[in-house]
Amino acid sequence: MIGAFILFFTIGAGAAGIGYLVYYNAQENKAREAKRREEETQFRALLLHELGKKQRTSFRLSEFSAKCEVPDEIARRVAEDIYASYYRKLIADGTIAPEEQKRITLLTQALEIDPEQVRRIEQHARKQAYSQAVDGVLADGRVTDEEARSLESLRRGLGISSHDANLWTGEVSRSSYLATFRRIVRDGVVTSEERAELLRCKKALALSDEQADSIIRAEALALYRETFAMVVQDGVITEEEEKTLTWLQDWASLSDRDLAEYHARSKVVKKLAAYREGKLPVVKTRTMLEGGETCHWEGSCAFGYETRTQYHEVTGKLIVTNRNIYFSSPSKSFSFKPSRILDIGRYSGGLEIKANARLGSGHYRVTDAEELEAILAGVVRKHKYLLSESYSSAMARHISDEVKREVWDRDGGRCVKCGKDDYLEFDHIIPHSRGGASTVGNVQLLCRRCNLLKSDRI
Ligand SMILES: [Zn+2]
Repeated sequence: MIGAFILFFTIGAGAAGIGYLVYYNAQENKAREAKRREEETQFRALLLHELGKKQRTSFRLSEFSAKCEVPDEIARRVAEDIYASYYRKLIADGTIAPEEQKRITLLTQALEIDPEQVRRIEQHARKQAYSQAVDGVLADGRVTDEEARSLESLRRGLGISSHDANLWTGEVSRSSYLATFRRIVRDGVVTSEERAELLRCKKALALSDEQADSIIRAEALALYRETFAMVVQDGVITEEEEKTLTWLQDWASLSDRDLAEYHARSKVVKKLAAYREGKLPVVKTRTMLEGGETCHWEGSCAFGYETRTQYHEVTGKLIVTNRNIYFSSPSKSFSFKPSRILDIGRYSGGLEIKANARLGSGHYRVTDAEELEAILAGVVRKHKYLLSESYSSAMARHISDEVKREVWDRDGGRCVKCGKDDYLEFDHIIPHSRGGASTVGNVQLLCRRCNLLKSDRI
């Protein structure tokens, strides 16, 4: 027992001793460091004073430091430091005049800084000056003509190669070029002004064509997905938007196979847009129609309607012609004129029609609600000579560019349900027909799959 106690005591005392030694060493180091710094400060003042005297080409650092009894190592460090700050000041105006070049050569000789070290110091100063200038230009996310020119002349003035410029500001250049490209492309229309801006940005950042292309290519699919979702959201792909998508595909060297899903979808969107405009398909039907009546849509449909006490749903067949809308089922059949339709609201899986007819108002669940909505909109448009834009489903399609952008960024370009980034659509959380607005708060990103699976009833 006593033995154990002694052992413990010994270890304890030993540890305290080591602790004291560590403490002592730290104090000593601190003192040494302070002394060295003081020596440096003193020598710096002496050296600056000496250099400030009228130019003497015979001045040599080694002689001077010997006279001052300052260790070589300190003398060298101080000299390099003085040279670095001198050089920084000299290049602050963006050029090195021949006269200045002569002076710095004399100075490096006097300070006996070896050429390799001179090169390193100068390179570091140039890098700092250039990086600062680039940061300043990119601070607002846009590169003006003037800024592009000033960066170019800075590179020329300081003799900075594109290679060095890229090395120093590569990361920031890369991301800001990509950001510029994204901003320009995402609304689906690339104006000639925007093309000029892109070019200016590329030039300002000293990016070669090859580099700029590879930056875009690495992000190509993501850019295409984003642009596509933005463009397609309103249900119309304009010629201008189509051009932008093609341009993006070419620029980014995306293959048709990469984009198969998008091309197929684009075809559907264009087809539906044509329907809505009144260019309707003719569908063969076995149902007897009146003379001059053309069938535009036929398919199975579950019709849901509310009575005072209950919600009923009956399954049957729906036919849309240029003159009538027919629903027939074993228990309930009716027809009404397209001109009776007051509003069409679409939710995934079905339509909600409001009509000023005795029968017809209710929910129509079909497999392709999107297509039925487009056809009905086209038929109604022909009947009423009205723009179908006044319908809920059409209104719901309208989301402003700002809202789209904000939603895209907020949701990080991913489906909020499953996190996929494959084929994204802007979805109204509460449908327009049920009072949901096209605001950032009511719009979210969903992949097509999740959007289709979204429950029909809210
Ligand atoms: Zn999803």
